[in-house]
Amino acid sequence: MMSDPSEPRVFLVGAGPGDPGLLTVRGAEVLARADLVLYDQLVPRRLLDYANPAAELICVRDLPGHHPDKYPHIHTKLIETARAGKTVVRLKGGDPLVFGRGGEEAETLRDAGVPYEIVPGVTAAFAAASYLDIPLTHRLHASAVALVTGHELPNKPGNKLDWEALAKFPGTLAVYMGIARLPLIIAELLKFGKSPDTPSAIIERASTGDMRTVFARLGDLEQARRSAGLEAPGLILIGAVVDLRADRSWFERKPLFGHRVLVTRPRHQAGPMIRKLELLGAVPHAFPTVEVRDPTDWGPVDAALGEVAHGDWDWLVFTSANGVHKLVRRLGAIGMDLRALGPVKIAAIGPKTADALREYHLNADVVPKTYIAEELAAALTSEVAGKRVLLARANRGRDVLRVELAKVAATVAQITVYEQSDVVTLDAEVLDSLRRGEIRYVTLSSSNIARALLGAFDETIQGRVHRGEIRLVAISPETGNAVRDLGFPVAAEADLYTTDGLIDAVVKLANTERPVSSHME
Ligand code: SAH
Repeated sequence: MMSDPSEPRVFLVGAGPGDPGLLTVRGAEVLARADLVLYDQLVPRRLLDYANPAAELICVRDLPGHHPDKYPHIHTKLIETARAGKTVVRLKGGDPLVFGRGGEEAETLRDAGVPYEIVPGVTAAFAAASYLDIPLTHRLHASAVALVTGHELPNKPGNKLDWEALAKFPGTLAVYMGIARLPLIIAELLKFGKSPDTPSAIIERASTGDMRTVFARLGDLEQARRSAGLEAPGLILIGAVVDLRADRSWFERKPLFGHRVLVTRPRHQAGPMIRKLELLGAVPHAFPTVEVRDPTDWGPVDAALGEVAHGDWDWLVFTSANGVHKLVRRLGAIGMDLRALGPVKIAAIGPKTADALREYHLNADVVPKTYIAEELAAALTSEVAGKRVLLARANRGRDVLRVELAKVAATVAQITVYEQSDVVTLDAEVLDSLRRGEIRYVTLSSSNIARALLGAFDETIQGRVHRGEIRLVAISPETGNAVRDLGFPVAAEADLYTTDGLIDAVVKLANTERPVSSHME
């Protein structure tokens, strides 16, 4: 297909302030088809999960040059990539046209004749206001909002800000990039008659689980900032509306607000759990410790599928959703389809595995209520007497099921439909966070994951676990036992052996522990 030369090749996209849920639908659409994503350092990294998996991801930090001589390099990269016929998403924090130099980039693209599109984003002031329950405008208290840069030095030659006008501005001031110059900004506003009693706030990382805030009167704001230890980047809100906020905002009331939670599921399966944690106000850290891959040898699987198609097996047993997906996809890959399963009876280890089967319109004949091998073996014992049973499973795992079924079945065979292995290079940044004690809850979603993770803990981290500063939460009693066998304490075990159950266990545990407070007055 001939590509239309007027079709946009470059998208200037607002990434929003931090919560990945605040990316626009349009932003997600274009990210999903980008060949290159060129992102600013402040952009929430989680948004890169929405990018086309084949896209090249480059942080502008890694381009040559330093602020501000980095900009020509950014412009060149955009133009050259677009001219090569590729689609570029230029991802910028908040809104691209609010203190984001998006206007300059658009101008450069226009001059170069490169078609582009601009996708707005939620700017920091709007997000901070929403996530703190502060109405930026109010019928009685503020009829205007000013978005102000705090980057320009008052008194600097060429300074375009009229601080006298801002001091008299009849509304809310939202100052971006102003933390480093806060004393000067306050001095200018007070000099021109703004009341030192004006309600004010500083917000750091608005819309994320580690949002922090300081509230004070304008005259005391710098002092309050220092004692709270808030540093740039942060947003300053000044105006009567700041006093209209709720005691704790709707966001700060979320059950896991302010808590950092480690998610150890394999990377391609971690997404939904990470999003659920974000919606509960937590700061999730992805830390895959095991990977799931195709088996090195499909031979035995292909042979077994042929036998199933010939009616050589009576039962097909799945012990994970992964196993279901891998086996069904393999059917397609070797030119077969679901008809090959014919009248074979199907068992699933638990409701999630049964859900995976239902995605292919397959109803499991047996599903125990819990998710453990013993339960499945018990549920199957009466069914499989004298029958031929095929277990589709991972390369490693427990042997209980095979052993128990072999006692009654005529034949039990196992096929490896996927392989698990430990991740060799663990994320060093996350390990450092654990070492520094920044992460409180570690979720363990299988025994293998527990073993891989705990084996990577050095003495510092181990010490924190033993002192209860890091809390290990297990998805099931079996995983809990694996943790205890390695000599570590288990802080909680899920009641329901699924990731939702695991999250519930973290919420319950957090409820019994000291609530976090982000507010400092
Ligand atoms: N284009 C961005 C602003 C870029 S300038 C937007 O529309 O939001 C960078 C400044 O934005 C920071 O110095 C800080 O003042 C503010 N900022 C960006 N994200 C923020 C956040 N999540 N919380 C608080 N301030 C933020």
